[in-house]
Amino acid sequence: MRFNRVLEKLTPYRASPPLAEIKQHYGLERLYVMSANEVPWGPFPEVVEKLKQALDGLNRYPDGNCGELRAEIARQLGVAKELLVFGNGSCEILMLLGQAFLGPDSHVVFPEPSFVMYRSIALAREAPFTAVALPNFRYDLQAMLDAIEENTSMIVVCNPNNPTGTYIESRELCHFLEQVPSEVLVVLDEAYGEFVTSPLHEDSVLWLERFPNLVVLRTFSKIYGLAGLRVGYAFAAPEVVTALDKIRQPFNVDSLAQIAALESLRHPERVRERRQKVAAERERVSRRLHEMGIATIPSQANFLLVDVSNLSIPGPEVPQALLERGILTRSGYAMGCPGWIRVTIGEVEEGDAFLAAMADLVRGGEFVPRRTALGLTADALSPES
Ligand code: PMP
Repeated sequence: MRFNRVLEKLTPYRASPPLAEIKQHYGLERLYVMSANEVPWGPFPEVVEKLKQALDGLNRYPDGNCGELRAEIARQLGVAKELLVFGNGSCEILMLLGQAFLGPDSHVVFPEPSFVMYRSIALAREAPFTAVALPNFRYDLQAMLDAIEENTSMIVVCNPNNPTGTYIESRELCHFLEQVPSEVLVVLDEAYGEFVTSPLHEDSVLWLERFPNLVVLRTFSKIYGLAGLRVGYAFAAPEVVTALDKIRQPFNVDSLAQIAALESLRHPERVRERRQKVAAERERVSRRLHEMGIATIPSQANFLLVDVSNLSIPGPEVPQALLERGILTRSGYAMGCPGWIRVTIGEVEEGDAFLAAMADLVRGGEFVPRRTALGLTADALSPES
């Protein structure tokens, strides 16, 4: 068979084992899942109600235009409906952007460490790329601008950035946009945007008119608690939206996802409540870690990068040691942040369990893994989210 030769450069996504299997393997009564930057809370109760009512209609295809959801988002953002495009999670929109803008002759600039998909879309399209480092885990926007070449067609910024949680203030980002050549598409990934509490934060939708080369990605997977349903959207100039609409499959967002997303948008007070809860917990967990002598990186997202290089056990063993204590985190070694782990912040009970386990690892005692890691390394135990 003649496979596309680009496949030689790609590896399949290695899914985490089911949570039930992890619990059984490690003999855990309770597993705190703090690895994938989801919120620990389900969809809003009103959303669950709407979903139950919608089950009868599943014999029909969904609305391929996401009509009602589109109208509501357009109304809330104050933009024309034609500026919106929907995807099976914002991941799908990233893949579509790759198809529409990247190829062997079009270069892409993205940050690293950042979300793994940026590198994946470049590899999948055989596009030359420059991965720009984050000194001290913060963006060097000048270095990103300097990386733009003659044939650059896309530059990606993730704000707040995954996995560092670091945030670029709106004024700084706006200044950056002013300097990007107008023929280069700027992909601004705001998957964690709803968690930002900076008082100077400006809604990026305000920049769209000024920068027709801007596309902003948002998702219902994070603060809205709908990661299992797969729905995200982007706003951009109409020609970008049309390009993506040409190549997407006709029914890419399923009907339950559309119903859940629409209802979620009707409860901004619940979003505010989650944002405040996460911010308070983020602050509490970092403060307690600092008191233990453990560094964290200032974060505006629902996760923290935590220094594990000075504990009583070697850093690479920390995710496994935490897992044996019932806490699933994500190892930084697999994400370009050796010596760090990423931990999702949400419920106080989870935070307390994590802090207690970390205190244990500070105090010491030799760590002898009780179990083999399910045939996988601790790195691979948590999904790349
Ligand atoms: N962007 C970033 C930065 C992410 O971390 C994620 C998921 N973890 C996504 C996009 C994709 O999210 P989804 O496909 O669930 O919308």
